Amino acid sequence: MRLVLLGPPGSGKGTQGARISARHGIPAISTGQLFDRQIAAGTQLGRRAERYVRAGELVPDEIVLDMVAERLDGSVDCAVGFLLDGFPRTYPQAEALDRMLAASCGPLDAVVDLDVDIDEVLDRIRRRAHTEDRVDDADDTARRRLKVFAEETAPLRRYYGRSGLLRTVDGAGTPDEVAARIERVLEDTAHPELHHPELHHPG
Ligand code: AMP
Repeated sequence: MRLVLLGPPGSGKGTQGARISARHGIPAISTGQLFDRQIAAGTQLGRRAERYVRAGELVPDEIVLDMVAERLDGSVDCAVGFLLDGFPRTYPQAEALDRMLAASCGPLDAVVDLDVDIDEVLDRIRRRAHTEDRVDDADDTARRRLKVFAEETAPLRRYYGRSGLLRTVDGAGTPDEVAARIERVLEDTAHPELHHPELHHPG
């Protein structure tokens, strides 16, 4: 299965990505986590990305795309698939992903969009700032990240809506509740005829 997980910072992409990854046996590729590792290791890529991550800004597309292309080329098994968490985040990234996949694994199966109220995500980010050592969870940075999401990433809903891939899932509630909603949506994607008998045309 080839999936993208969309949703604002604090919407639970990391938590749900890990669950989808474990349940379906597909690697979760989180660009945020890849940047964190590069920054912590002090690599050249990390040094190029750090000031953007710290400021809550998007890392420029060309840096992100180089990193993702390397990850997808190097270690993705198309037969198994993957889950992308936090990528794409801009139109150019989405278009580049389409091109990369057209030349390799084939198109995405679904884009799961976690829909969570803005006040709720700010609350979650504040709580996370207390428990995790993230460089970008300070309050004003969190607000900046939400604004960037609204301006740059939310429009991707339209992009994926047009191609029929968008699956919006209510992201409110406990991780178990959200995970159950996602599983229903993925099951429906994999076997649409079970839920929509009119789509089943035997022979
Ligand atoms: P995340 O953990 O997905 O919220 O990502 C943390 C930070 O990493 C973001 O605020 C950006 O600075 C950077 N980042 C992660 N993914 C991307 C992306 N696809 N495009 C640009 N910047 C990204």
